[in-house]
Amino acid sequence: MKPVLVKGAGVVGLVTAYELARRGIEVDVIERSERIGAGASWFAGGMLAPWCERESADEKVERIGATAIEWWKAMLPDKVAQEGTLVVAAARDTRELDRFAARTTGHNWLDADQIAQLEPDLAGRFSRALYFPREAHLDPREALSSLRDTLMAMGVRFHFGLTTDAAVSHRFGWHIDCTGHARLPNDPALRGVRGEMLYLRTGDIQLSRPVRLLHPRHPIYVVPRRQGVFMVGATMIESDLSGPITARSLMELLNAAYALHPAFGEAQITETGTGVRPAYPDNLPRITRSGSNFCVNGLYRHGFLLSPTLAHDVTERLLNPDHQSEFHDEP
Ligand SMILES: Cc1cc2nc3c(=O)[nH]c(=O)nc-3n(C[C@H](O)[C@H](O)[C@H](O)COP(=O)(O)OP(=O)(O)OC[C@H]3O[C@@H](n4cnc5c(N)ncnc54)[C@H](O)[C@@H]3O)c2cc1C
Repeated sequence: MKPVLVKGAGVVGLVTAYELARRGIEVDVIERSERIGAGASWFAGGMLAPWCERESADEKVERIGATAIEWWKAMLPDKVAQEGTLVVAAARDTRELDRFAARTTGHNWLDADQIAQLEPDLAGRFSRALYFPREAHLDPREALSSLRDTLMAMGVRFHFGLTTDAAVSHRFGWHIDCTGHARLPNDPALRGVRGEMLYLRTGDIQLSRPVRLLHPRHPIYVVPRRQGVFMVGATMIESDLSGPITARSLMELLNAAYALHPAFGEAQITETGTGVRPAYPDNLPRITRSGSNFCVNGLYRHGFLLSPTLAHDVTERLLNPDHQSEFHDEP
């Protein structure tokens, strides 16, 4: 088989390159910026949370997302924490917890003592919580860097600072476009959903797992990273503008973090950022084909959760034209 060109080194491009290389296919990756993960993937929470996501997502996200946890654990055994997810709400918002429980499965109810056992620093702050024990999380930046190193060791060639493959395109049998929201101008069905986030650093609180704080207007989550760093996310704004975080969003995220635990009030803000999630109208991804070009896009809130299955599907499709996937969308 002629080599394959993967365009875009976000989570979808890198995971796709890995699946292709693993099957013995020669792969080159071109990336318009000077490094991997220059798009939405860099700002992700890294939650592998298919059961929580079912609250607002299709059943495919839960079913396929559950398999992604095993994929990432096999791929990065020392970088995936499977500590579950804790979901809490302020006393005035406990109806949100009931609503969340009614729309999801795979959880247990915890009382105040059980919350304190699981997350001692949240002792006394919430009387009830939902616990999703099978969920996992990873640090997206570590995960993408490890994937890049693995790919390079497998012989995959990276070309940074390139947006066009014109000079070399004749060498490739297939092109796989994984350019995320940058594809908006070429795909009228695709839209952007802006997600603003921030990083806080504090030694005054420790968490072992992502904690989601439900709220009727501003649900947020806090994901622990290494060395006292926490990712706080994320807004969901129907916009493809990727500029800096707005004052309103910053206030909302900080207020919510403070409501989760007042120690966050003394934390240092070490970074703010914005990623644009690429999404189709049904918020499910698509693999589209035009001749020898495939596009894998629209992973919305689920880039880490769904990319292993999409990468597998597009690889199968290259090797076996009759292969059918739930996410194929032929024009
Ligand atoms: C705040 C936030 C939190 C999130 N949290 C989670 C989470 O917890 N779990 C989860 O599963 N998902 C999460 N997501 C969703 C996830 O990040 C996205 O679904 C995913 O990053 C999309 O990946 P992608 O590879 O399609 O796009 P991107 O990550 O945007 O990558 C596209 C790449 O293509 C490159 N590119 C663009 N145009 C060209 C070109 N012409 N030539 C070459 N290269 C090009 C870009 O520079 C970029 O590197 C979150 C998203 C956001 C914004």
